[in-house]
Amino acid sequence: AFDVLVVGGGPAGAAAAIYAARKGLVTGIVADKFGGQVAETVGIENFISVSKTEGPKLVANLESHVHDYDVDIMANQKANTLVKEGLFKLGLESGASLSSKTILLATGARWREMNVPGEQEYRGKGVAYCPHCDGPLFKGKRVAVIGGGNSGIEAAIDLANLVEHVTVLEFDVNLRADEVLQRKAKSMGNITIITQAMTTKVLGDGKRVTGLSYTDRKSGESHEVTLAGIFVQIGLVPNTEWLRGVVELTERGEIIVDAKGQTSIPGVFAAGDVTNVPFKQIIIAMGSGASASLGAFDYLIRHSDE
Ligand code: FAD
Repeated sequence: AFDVLVVGGGPAGAAAAIYAARKGLVTGIVADKFGGQVAETVGIENFISVSKTEGPKLVANLESHVHDYDVDIMANQKANTLVKEGLFKLGLESGASLSSKTILLATGARWREMNVPGEQEYRGKGVAYCPHCDGPLFKGKRVAVIGGGNSGIEAAIDLANLVEHVTVLEFDVNLRADEVLQRKAKSMGNITIITQAMTTKVLGDGKRVTGLSYTDRKSGESHEVTLAGIFVQIGLVPNTEWLRGVVELTERGEIIVDAKGQTSIPGVFAAGDVTNVPFKQIIIAMGSGASASLGAFDYLIRHSDE
């Protein structure tokens, strides 16, 4: 059995595993996709002490740092159950199960979907979630960005340099993005911002996206926009579906943790974007992973006779 079994191989999970291994604990990591959201990131300029790096490079560094220690890495494995039977038992989709004295949940988050007809059908065929990854595919074409928060407006500014035209659709009366981003977007000649717009359908020709329909929430009128791509930027959802009813979650599905990263179950810790930490960033995820790992160590030395 493991002393600390980390679920998730993003910055939080990697930091947690390194801290646990450095305490001499028997440590494992189960990760669906090692690297997590960082693998989908292009430029990173706010990882303090590294002026500029790129997602895949940071992922390679994370992995190599974890490999410096005796950590059992189980990649491409998805956890789907957690129960306590003396030890904690983590069930995997593969059917296998792993035992550990403590569990450290660092399963991060993923893009929120619009849940409108056509979204699933045209996913990867014009419906995209990562402007950095898929933006260049729409060079010289017309696209939409759904969502007027920071990520939506950042995406619009980024895409406007590549594509012919960007239409931003915001559900609310006002954009939620920082003023400086809004100013920048408005100064660019090829971004149109439509507020109070509820996207209702992704339109396509069977092969690719050709447009979208939205309802003007003020007038109630329905409109169509002709487009080649739709970037959905309406937030992140924590990866906790499998933990409902297991650990205490917020209304938004985030794992509630205390200052030591402990969840509602003693011995189960959590860190990073999957928790109710207010800010979701790499450096914060790493710090909380380290903190939760020390929390697990603290728990283990107090429960070593169990
Ligand atoms: P994640 O990175 O989400 O990792 C979660 C891990 O858990 C993954 O390995 C995943 O495969 C695994 N997992 C999930 N469910 C299961 C399961 N059931 N079983 C097993 N494994 C599972 N932050 C910055 O600081 N600077 C930036 O410039 C920046 N740019 C970003 C750009 C983009 C496009 C995105 C999406 C995010 C960006 N962020 C940035 C945010 C940053 O990437 C996250 O805050 C950070 O990755 C969170 O780390 P995490 O370890 O908590 O979760």
